[in-house]
Amino acid sequence: MDSFFEIKNFSCGYPGKFTLKSISFKIEKGDFVGIIGPNGSGKTTLFKGISNELPAISGESKLNSNSIQKMSLKQKAQNIAIVTQHIEVGSMTVEEYILMGRIPYRKQFQFFETKRDIAIAKKYMDLTGVTPLKDKYMNALSGGEQQLAGIARALTQDPQLLLLDEPTSHLDITHQVEILNLIRRLSKELGLTVLMIIHDLNLAGEYCDSLIMMQNGGIRKKGSPTEVLNYRDIEAVYNTVVVTRTNPISNKPVVFLVSEEVIRKS
Ligand code: ADP
Repeated sequence: MDSFFEIKNFSCGYPGKFTLKSISFKIEKGDFVGIIGPNGSGKTTLFKGISNELPAISGESKLNSNSIQKMSLKQKAQNIAIVTQHIEVGSMTVEEYILMGRIPYRKQFQFFETKRDIAIAKKYMDLTGVTPLKDKYMNALSGGEQQLAGIARALTQDPQLLLLDEPTSHLDITHQVEILNLIRRLSKELGLTVLMIIHDLNLAGEYCDSLIMMQNGGIRKKGSPTEVLNYRDIEAVYNTVVVTRTNPISNKPVVFLVSEEVIRKS
């Protein structure tokens, strides 16, 4: 049987400049998978390939046995939602912005959202905690609040696959944990399949079911957080000295950085 999401011998990119090496992996429904790797390793390029923003140079990706490359724009928008780091906000209210997540479901000649659209948007505004901001203009929000609104809009799109590019980068630790707890709950309770680019290795290890570690446009390692977050692979990929231990409460791996001064003295 096919896996829920499958990418096989896939490559895309910017020919002559940077292309992914042939990439293959599978994800089951409801899995929460983190993509880690240094800047320039190809994480965003991979996302653009999965969402078909960059055409495949080779291979294919399948969601629920359907080729993503063959989906119409509308089918794609009903199946895959992306939250990018920089949200194009324009001058609209938070509620208007989030309701735009329902556009892929509009019928021909339907110009306004239905009661159901409004109910779905409300549900996700409540879940992400942005309801108190709903009448504010998007461009008047902080980076973190915009990120929360972006996630609410993506969920309102009711996708099968959610792609998150650094969803916690502008958030303080309270909101980081809140968002990651929420995403984990959605993946486990609603069976939402999530692929998330994340720089923070400790959050990646704590929250994700499995991790994909990228290096130079290819996959260096994939597996459980414990398998992937070992000092040998991290040091090789990031060219940085680290110490890894196990969180005594969660039993997940944690990664410590060590300053140059301490390394010199040790
Ligand atoms: P990551 O998300 O891991 O930081 P990216 O996928 O953004 O890495 O970038 C991978 C490589 O592709 C980098 O070397 C980057 O310079 C290059 N790249 C990204 N965007 C473009 C573009 N629009 N045109 C040409 N090269 C690009």
